Amino acid sequence: MKITGCFIPQSIGHPGILPEFFEALAGLDLIVLNFAPMTTLNTHYQKLKAGYLFPEIARRVREFSVQNPNAKIIRLGIGDVVLPLPLSTRNAMKKAVDEMGEPTSFRGYGPEQGYDFLREAIAKHDFASRGVTIHPDEIFVSDGSKCDSGNIQEIFDIGSKIAVTDPVYPVYVDTNVMAGRTGEVSASGHYEGIIYMPSTAENNFTPALPKEKADLIYLCSPNNPTGTVMTHEDLKRWVRYAKENDSIILFDAAYHAFITNPSLPHSIYEVEGARDVAIEFRSFSKNAGFTGIRCAFTVVPKELMAKNKSGEKFGVHALWNRRHCTKFNGVSYPVQRAAEAVYSAEGKKEVDEMIRYYLNNARIIREGLASTGLKVYGGVDAPYVWVKTPQNMGSWEFFDMLLKEAHVVGTPGAGFGPSGEGYFRLSSFGFRENIEEAIQRIKSRLGTPAR
Ligand code: PLP
Repeated sequence: MKITGCFIPQSIGHPGILPEFFEALAGLDLIVLNFAPMTTLNTHYQKLKAGYLFPEIARRVREFSVQNPNAKIIRLGIGDVVLPLPLSTRNAMKKAVDEMGEPTSFRGYGPEQGYDFLREAIAKHDFASRGVTIHPDEIFVSDGSKCDSGNIQEIFDIGSKIAVTDPVYPVYVDTNVMAGRTGEVSASGHYEGIIYMPSTAENNFTPALPKEKADLIYLCSPNNPTGTVMTHEDLKRWVRYAKENDSIILFDAAYHAFITNPSLPHSIYEVEGARDVAIEFRSFSKNAGFTGIRCAFTVVPKELMAKNKSGEKFGVHALWNRRHCTKFNGVSYPVQRAAEAVYSAEGKKEVDEMIRYYLNNARIIREGLASTGLKVYGGVDAPYVWVKTPQNMGSWEFFDMLLKEAHVVGTPGAGFGPSGEGYFRLSSFGFRENIEEAIQRIKSRLGTPAR
């Protein structure tokens, strides 16, 4: 007896295929048919809001440029740095590349968590220098805070309730949507299941603590997009909340280097008790111009615990280490040497100069816009200036107006969350002459005195 078994692909339904298929089966006595289901996508991805912010900005700018090929557009939208890499970091990288060219100093895979030389430099210069104890083995070196702040959620239960400030760095929300931790997005732009904490001028960009229990709380200071910086008191309030509610704070300090006010905290661990309740993300992207080089780190203190399903406590450090070693193979040696050079005397000087340059840009933006009567926030200890749109204009309406009439591109606040509607973000990451020209153009469009 001739027997065959086969999967029937979806394409068999095609009228041109069906006769050939039956011809091929002729002469068989028994045919076992099994219908192969088509591969299913992660359906949670389909909940993501269509037209993500930056592609939509790019689309509008492209359309405008095609229609106005002579317009000199100035982009103050995306938060990418423009100043070149500090010399100290380039020299360190070149030296490391040469080492890699010698059999005696060549290195292959490094430790997934980062080389000791960099972890020790971070612990000393970023934390011990501010009176904070972070052990080198609590530092996980990575290729970016975007990845770390996006990936961290996967070591927590899918049922974890997350809380975000609104507006917010979109990565925190979208990665939880992708994981399936939320429901659908509503017409107002809120995902079902997420606790949104509005952060607006009305509450001085200091959102109230959630009334319900949040398991994971994303905080970002200095804030992207509002440019607000949390004080010691703010952080203490959150640490207390986290202790009372058995929550974990995910603290993103990617912009800490922009803090110049000595009374403001750079790290959540400057608050007593934070080691028990917080993870901190840091990056070399914005202080040392590493957006294209890629180096960052995440701090997970050994005291930080979470429960498993049976209520037993488990060290989060061990779990993140497991995740990191399974899915990541370390940052390249030359890049880690470059990051180490950021902490050298020369490196610190160069970083200071770059930060001062961007903060001066921020001042020019702030003062220029304020002189037109616009209400501006942030941009003092942060690279972002958060602007209230005039005459209750919508964020996108203001975006279109600035693009068409001043040829300046910013970021509509609504793209960062529903409470960002009616606001606009301008970034100080630009060359001085462009910043000055952009502000001049906006001023002549909006005019003085105040509208
Ligand atoms: N965290 C915040 C708040 C950011 O705004 C950004 C980049 O814009 C990042 C993290 C990303 O940092 P990295 O370049 O290290 O991935």
